[in-house]
Amino acid sequence: MSLDWLIIGGGIHGVHLATRLLGEGDVSPDALRIVDPGEKLLERWLECTKITGMRHLRSPSVHHLDIEPWSLKQYAGKKKRKRSGLFVRPYSRPALPLFNAHCKSVVEHFSLENLHIRARAEDCSIDCDGVKIQLSTGHMVSAQNIVLALGSSDEPHWPDWAPVDDLRVHHVFAPGFGGWPSNKEAVALVGGGISAGQIALRLMKEQHEVHLISRHALRQHQFDSDPGWLGPKFMRGFVREQDLERRRAMITEARHKGSVPPDVRRALIRAIEKGQLHWYEDEVATVATETETLGIRLSSGVQIDAQRLLLATGFSSRRPGGLLIDRLIASASLPCATCGYPIVDESLRWHPNIYVSGPLAELELGPTSRNIAGARRAADRLVATIRSNSSVLLHQRAQ
Ligand SMILES: Cc1cc2nc3c(=O)[nH]c(=O)nc-3n(C[C@H](O)[C@H](O)[C@H](O)COP(=O)(O)OP(=O)(O)OC[C@H]3O[C@@H](n4cnc5c(N)ncnc54)[C@H](O)[C@@H]3O)c2cc1C
Repeated sequence: MSLDWLIIGGGIHGVHLATRLLGEGDVSPDALRIVDPGEKLLERWLECTKITGMRHLRSPSVHHLDIEPWSLKQYAGKKKRKRSGLFVRPYSRPALPLFNAHCKSVVEHFSLENLHIRARAEDCSIDCDGVKIQLSTGHMVSAQNIVLALGSSDEPHWPDWAPVDDLRVHHVFAPGFGGWPSNKEAVALVGGGISAGQIALRLMKEQHEVHLISRHALRQHQFDSDPGWLGPKFMRGFVREQDLERRRAMITEARHKGSVPPDVRRALIRAIEKGQLHWYEDEVATVATETETLGIRLSSGVQIDAQRLLLATGFSSRRPGGLLIDRLIASASLPCATCGYPIVDESLRWHPNIYVSGPLAELELGPTSRNIAGARRAADRLVATIRSNSSVLLHQRAQ
């Protein structure tokens, strides 16, 4: 198979990029594919968000996977589902079922499942015609251009102290997670961010005894970074900064890691005050597994006995892509900053035939690169590049 574009990763980023390349970049469906191991596109997004029990997104209604910014609002109206709760204040954040139904409608409108290759990209090599991609199915695909839209959701962060081979210990975002308690249980939950908070609320609602352990106090932020990072207010200074170590420091400082929005914070505080949620601002020191219940000892000396330990400790901060990206960097001498992340140009081009999105694009797009807004900005750059390349071609032909 020989393509113009192969997108590696069929998550929020891969799906939005495909939508924009087809809808705005004049790329023909025959010339584009998305490779992703999921049964269906967006599988990791659907799994991870479902587990949290979240009712609304953290981001506003203009951050979605279709082309026009008002598409999600129009979709809600068209479906005559303007019931209360479909969008909530502040910033008109959409309900998760509405957002997911809208994603499904975008995938269907562009027939993206017909372009989905169910496989993992295992190796990429560059030659004079473009990129050759070896798939886990044994097939080989050639593409003029590839976009690495790998995300981080395949790599949940597993703390060193957490036992790896005990059936009572799970990471909530592990692919294929099957550790949700069915009977009433004492559950120790570790994490201090929005997902840990939402999961604690869901467990409580389902009548479990919940022990929430966070290394820090509840930190309140509406978004995971200041909205000023979506526009010139902060991005101007970021782009002006040429030192990539300083850019990395700006990203780290800008991200409100381990924070919760006001509504989740309020609900947690209420539950703690009513004694419905056991809260520990502490660190796990050891976990004893030889007993019937897990013995979770905290640094302060407190011991929690729980039937289950759930980790809501987010994703690894390592560069995503593992061996695939390591080998690509080595074989094509691709430039990386000291933090290991790609050095790309304004078009998000890492090599004449390789583009990046999501975490891999963050030294160019800043702290919002991983989010839905980041997918939209990556797509803006890709579409602009395609359009400028085709106008150069037209100009050359006219001469
Ligand atoms: C619970 C939760 C709620 C969130 N809520 C919001 C929100 O409200 N607003 C917001 O803006 N952001 C939110 N985010 C953050 C972000 O938008 C999501 O994490 C989003 O799913 C990231 O999309 P992605 O496509 O980069 O990555 P992923 O969802 O990780 O998708 C990447 C895909 O690439 C595949 N892949 C990886 N390696 C390969 C390979 N070698 N070959 C083929 N395929 C590969 C993976 O299997 C995966 O399917 C949330 C995240 C989580 C976890």
